[in-house]
Amino acid sequence: MKSILPKHNCEKIYGSGRKCKVLLCVFLITLSCCGCAGRGAARNSPIQSVDTGMGTIIRQTIYADGQTQIAEEVLQNITDLEHQYLSRRLADSELYQVNELAGQADGIVLSERLTNILERCMEVSEASDGAFDITIGETVRLWDIDARSSMENVSDYEKPGAEALSESLKYSGYDKLILQDNTLFLPAKMQLDLGAVGKGIALDCVGEYLEAQEVTGAVISVGGSILTYGQKPDGSSWKVGVINPHDTSQNLGYLSLKGQWCVSTSGDYERFVEVDGVRYHHIIDPATGYPADSGVSSVTILTQDGFLSDALSTACFILGSEKGCELAERFGASALFVDREGNITMTAGMEKYFN
Ligand code: AMP
Ligand code: MG
Repeated sequence: MKSILPKHNCEKIYGSGRKCKVLLCVFLITLSCCGCAGRGAARNSPIQSVDTGMGTIIRQTIYADGQTQIAEEVLQNITDLEHQYLSRRLADSELYQVNELAGQADGIVLSERLTNILERCMEVSEASDGAFDITIGETVRLWDIDARSSMENVSDYEKPGAEALSESLKYSGYDKLILQDNTLFLPAKMQLDLGAVGKGIALDCVGEYLEAQEVTGAVISVGGSILTYGQKPDGSSWKVGVINPHDTSQNLGYLSLKGQWCVSTSGDYERFVEVDGVRYHHIIDPATGYPADSGVSSVTILTQDGFLSDALSTACFILGSEKGCELAERFGASALFVDREGNITMTAGMEKYFN
């Protein structure tokens, strides 16, 4: 049995071990309440930073009485989380090593953290009838949208052929994944991809870190996943903008939140490649192997659980608004959908917060 050693844990959410300190940020959703003005430290004025991590932008606004190191520690913890556990590309990460061992007959021994993450992913896969499925790593790799979408010149991009896609789907399927305690049986050629939940997991870790510090309030975004924490010095609500997917320079409105919340958005404008006027985005429908085509342009999920917010935003994007609303509510989350025509649909829970 192969064992892959864990190094780093979030105590409350992902089991015991060294405390995960932080992470966070913004991307598809913008925080209309906070600008980015370098790092400051005066009393009642926030520490602010903008960095990159987890392949996206990380924005922090933290009220912590001048403890300027906090933003750096948050960033470090997000980076550690990615490097030690979640990255599909970095050879030192546990996920990378797990993927290398696909087909290992006697199983792969996982860290407590990765075991917990995979258990939660499988729960969302079952509840979404396989719309959310981390086993489609090989199909995601064939499309290569994450890497290509950040490049200015994609004139040489060739979308994968139908045969290659259907071949890759043969190696996927969450129901073929067996997890016995902390031993994973990963079928040969199956590749796991945690891109749909990494940013949400980071928010959970950051939330734990902030709790352990003398932080009175914070808003931290990691790409399209945003954490609000505590309160602003003036007691007013955090305002989290919901981007208009059809004009990303504008917000459609904002969520008015007090205390600790996680808001994740999945959208077809986040990562995509355009070929001959056709947009190929990064959220793949496991039923077809092609970018999901449910009529939705973006989905925003609101919950107090970062993992769930991120997993559900991806799942709901694929399911569309009707099934997606049901799925979100089954997990006690609120959802807001924007369709291709710009119509907004939301759960009753979301109406209380959306302006
Ligand atoms: P998000 O932006 O949170 O919706 O996550 C999208 C990312 O999740 C993609 O870039 C892929 O890495 C991965 N992914 C794509 N399709 C799926 C899917 N059906 N289930 C799980 N992960 C997916
Ligand atoms: Mg997601």
